[in-house]
Amino acid sequence: MKKIYKQLLNLFLVAAILIGGITAGSMISSASGAKAGDAEMKSTEAEKMEVHFIDVGQGDAALVICDGHAMLIDAGDYSKGTAIQNYLQKQKVKKLDYLILTHPDSDHIGGAPVIITKFEIDKVFVSNYEKDNKTYQKLIQALDNKHLKYTTPEVGAQYSLGTAEITILAPNGTYDDPNDASIAMMLQNGENRFLFTGDAEENAERDILATGIDLSADVYKAGHHGSRTSTSQDFFEAVSPSSAVISCGEDNSYGHPHAETLNTFRMNGVKVYRTDEDGTLIATSDGKRITFNVPASETWKSGEPGANSSVWEVPDQKQETGKSETQSAKKQEVPAVKESQQETGKADTDEITYILNTKTNKFHKLSCSALPTANRKDSSESRESIIAQGYEPCKRCNP
Ligand SMILES: [Zn+2]
Ligand SMILES: [Zn+2]
Repeated sequence: MKKIYKQLLNLFLVAAILIGGITAGSMISSASGAKAGDAEMKSTEAEKMEVHFIDVGQGDAALVICDGHAMLIDAGDYSKGTAIQNYLQKQKVKKLDYLILTHPDSDHIGGAPVIITKFEIDKVFVSNYEKDNKTYQKLIQALDNKHLKYTTPEVGAQYSLGTAEITILAPNGTYDDPNDASIAMMLQNGENRFLFTGDAEENAERDILATGIDLSADVYKAGHHGSRTSTSQDFFEAVSPSSAVISCGEDNSYGHPHAETLNTFRMNGVKVYRTDEDGTLIATSDGKRITFNVPASETWKSGEPGANSSVWEVPDQKQETGKSETQSAKKQEVPAVKESQQETGKADTDEITYILNTKTNKFHKLSCSALPTANRKDSSESRESIIAQGYEPCKRCNP
């Protein structure tokens, strides 16, 4: 019965396309070249999908809504949990089909306990990297309290979110670095493809490439907040995005996004959208076209000190908290985020403690005015163990 019905439906669709093609043909071919047939049928099935890159300062949180279904990818650091909760409620989200926590760094899972406590959640996916710290313990405790199971998804597994489809691309094994253990996924709605790789760095990118899964995407959520340790050349070429979204905090201590990554985007004509400049970004897909709620950034400003003329200047709109709407309709912010954004650095205590210079063997506070741009290594170790490795405290910031 079902099969016959499907075949009949297919016949009808073929007939409809043949007839429709005569009248609409010119319009379709002028818009998208030779694409028709399969792709055409697929996109007519796609419902609207919105991807909200929520401004959580230095960190990640993306809300995807498609056809009444919702998914949250990461939840910022602990000070952003309530802001994300408010944002989800404002979007009328009552239930999450999926909560995906790409990896256990605090700027990705810190806000998750609030979300887990406040929302009904169907499936929770976590990285296979476990951390032995308070932030991680709080996450597991919140999951246990709600009796929620959590698993690491298999590479190649597919899940649906309304008309959109999620394909898992990573982690491809276990890694020494939590960033490399990030869950990566392709999100496809009709013809529109969004790639999320968490903080996966070059090692993990190479392993994602090796899966042979098609990585081409329209929108690439720049790996690791636009760090130069991600978006390696081969990987970028395989993705070949038309747009990139960078989720990072203004004046973050890591220098994200790095100039190298921005240059790669710029040289290849990739449009860049940044939460540090425009606040929460919303990309809307109708299955055929993707539109953003703000124009692409044209500053090409890296977060590295001294790398670009006015990186450290405070734009006017920043000082007028709450009034930015009239000043610039661009910056869309979730309530309370601005306040907590100023704590960036302090909140991430279990992630980065000091900045090392591997050449001079000096170590610095995150707030030091003389942070290295080259030979820089971000450490999450204690002062004692850094000194034990032969590093000396910087004389300027006295860490
Ligand atoms: Zn991160
Ligand atoms: Zn990370």
